[in-house]
Amino acid sequence: METNSSLSAGRENSDALLALDRALCGDIWAGDAAARLLETLCVDYGGRFAGSADYRGAAEALAEQWRAAGLADVHLEEFPIIGWERGESALTMTAPATRALPCIALPPAPACDIEAEALDLGYGLDPDFAAAGDAVKGKIVLVRAGAPPGQRPSHRLEKYIRAQQAGAAAFLFFDGEPGMLAATGSLHSDPDGPFETLLPGAGLAYETGLELARWLSRGPVTLRLRMTNRARRDVSWNVVGDLRGASAAGSGPQVLVCGHLDGHDIAQGAIDNASGVVAVSEVARALAGQADALGGGVRFVAYGAEELGMIGSYAYAASHRAELDDLRFIFNLDCVGTSGPLGLYLQNCSELTPIFRRLGQEMGGDYSVQEALIPFSDQFPFTLEGVPSAFIATGGGGPRGWGHTAADTLDKVDVRAIRNAAAVVARLVVRVAGDRAWPGRRRTPDETRAALQAQGVEAQLRLLGAWPF
Ligand SMILES: [Zn+2]
Repeated sequence: METNSSLSAGRENSDALLALDRALCGDIWAGDAAARLLETLCVDYGGRFAGSADYRGAAEALAEQWRAAGLADVHLEEFPIIGWERGESALTMTAPATRALPCIALPPAPACDIEAEALDLGYGLDPDFAAAGDAVKGKIVLVRAGAPPGQRPSHRLEKYIRAQQAGAAAFLFFDGEPGMLAATGSLHSDPDGPFETLLPGAGLAYETGLELARWLSRGPVTLRLRMTNRARRDVSWNVVGDLRGASAAGSGPQVLVCGHLDGHDIAQGAIDNASGVVAVSEVARALAGQADALGGGVRFVAYGAEELGMIGSYAYAASHRAELDDLRFIFNLDCVGTSGPLGLYLQNCSELTPIFRRLGQEMGGDYSVQEALIPFSDQFPFTLEGVPSAFIATGGGGPRGWGHTAADTLDKVDVRAIRNAAAVVARLVVRVAGDRAWPGRRRTPDETRAALQAQGVEAQLRLLGAWPF
């Protein structure tokens, strides 16, 4: 008898869940809300660069959309940043021949006018700097993106910090993909640190970097780098809104659905990350219509200043630390607008890998589940706090990645990919928040430290000043 009644209760539950899935998917796939918000963010507010009037406008417009969708207590939370304005940038080879080499300043590079000998430091890894030794001092160093095949990828910021520590005069970084597109990206992540004395840095296109490397392989090269950028202390904001589930009274949210709203100043930031914010907003809109069915509170956050070094998510994790024990899971959507497969990259919560795989099979959800620690997106400040999360992104979808280049524009985005990501995440949120025996758990600081050490990222995080233990 008992078995039968629990079986029929299980069937009723799964029928109710199926009805809920249909409502959520219908809301997300019908209508043009996603396409309209995408266009608003990319066209009306451009790159939404941290510290710009466009970013503030985008944050207010998004807050208004979330209020209209039915989220409660929608507000902006302020935090400090280093604001920066791009000026003119000119890189010239002055010897052995005269060549103008197109470049873009990397935020928050200071103004400069430097003429110095250049030095090719390969991938800019520790052994490259060690081999060059004192020869780095006073040189304009050239490094390429990535690492040799089979080695751990090294982030632009690591290479930059090594160059600064070794006494270079300037830092030139070139992108790993052809197409004459220089990639931008931040050189600094401490909003309270000094910025006037930073090493000047500029990005080159792949072809320009190779041209310069070829000249350097023949003999000495002298370069002149002139930039007129301006930096200042400033503030930015996270957009925060709540959907309160039936049993969430008195505690913090159980689930966080988030993505970064800011982009770079040289493009519309369409894939990176208007796509993610639109998906987050679609999850909010669909779940707001089914709030009674939610087992716990769900919070939505659009972070500011991710592109300056995840400043907004670090600020959120610090100011909401008291709520982190209540958080079961964080879905961070960063670049979900290309037509390749949707991936959930779980962060230090391997007990959830079989759970999310099973949920995917039950839902017919179109996504893959992998375990891969990613220190360069907004879930990472929470990983350091031991909170389980997924970095969510789509792969492929074009001849090359467009992120951080001037070509990250609206035309590159496939709205169907955003809708698929939103429909998958909305259904997963219902399941995570509704499971009375959810098996995920927050790590202790000791467990988190040990897990990061086992992943071999301690040295990298120490170099970046992001090792909190
Ligand atoms: Zn991003």
